[in-house]
Amino acid sequence: MKILVVEDEPKTGDYLRQGLAEAGFVVDLARNGLDGLHLALGEAYDLAIVDVMLPGIDGWQLLQGIRRAGKDMPLLFLSARDAVEDRVKGLELGADDYLVKPFAFSELLARVRTLLRRGSKAKEPELLRAADLELDLIRRRVSRSGRKIDLTAKEFSLLELLLRRQGEVLSRSLIASQVWDMNFDSDTNVIEVAIRRLRAKVDDGFEPKLIRTVRGMGYVLEVAT
Ligand code: CA
Repeated sequence: MKILVVEDEPKTGDYLRQGLAEAGFVVDLARNGLDGLHLALGEAYDLAIVDVMLPGIDGWQLLQGIRRAGKDMPLLFLSARDAVEDRVKGLELGADDYLVKPFAFSELLARVRTLLRRGSKAKEPELLRAADLELDLIRRRVSRSGRKIDLTAKEFSLLELLLRRQGEVLSRSLIASQVWDMNFDSDTNVIEVAIRRLRAKVDDGFEPKLIRTVRGMGYVLEVAT
């Protein structure tokens, strides 16, 4: 899941980027409204978190630009001002939620997950499955044969990607860009290592094996027939 953060205050921006990345999201950070709009229109995001007071174009103008372009990703606004007019204006213009600074990160994360769930309700299931493996997108839990499997945030994102695109061979560069938000560098074995760990947790001791390496091409999760 990819999130755009538009925040000019360096400390808050870095805090959000780091916290969301640790929670398993891929995050792009824009430090002003114009960069934010540029990214919002050029890339595919599942959600945008936007500060109201921004240099250049403010959060409201950003919101209008995004909606005018036909982008319907959910937008969560952040504001230091708790004026009722602000809240009303934001919701009228098409903001999906509004959070007043300062906020607890756990509160932000809860709102983010609610918005993502609401935004994807029509097209997405709450559970992803392959054989007896289950990934619960809402509770962020994974189990196999009813046994709980503990995954790190990155492992969870990796498994989510593999499950969403079940049966499809995913290249390492695609996995790198979707899960790590980095360009694939052949010197790093971060993906191999993560796949190996994930496979040990998900496949060791279970049948059928679900995660497979396709030599020279990448990885696939499928129920062998
Ligand atoms: Ca600001």
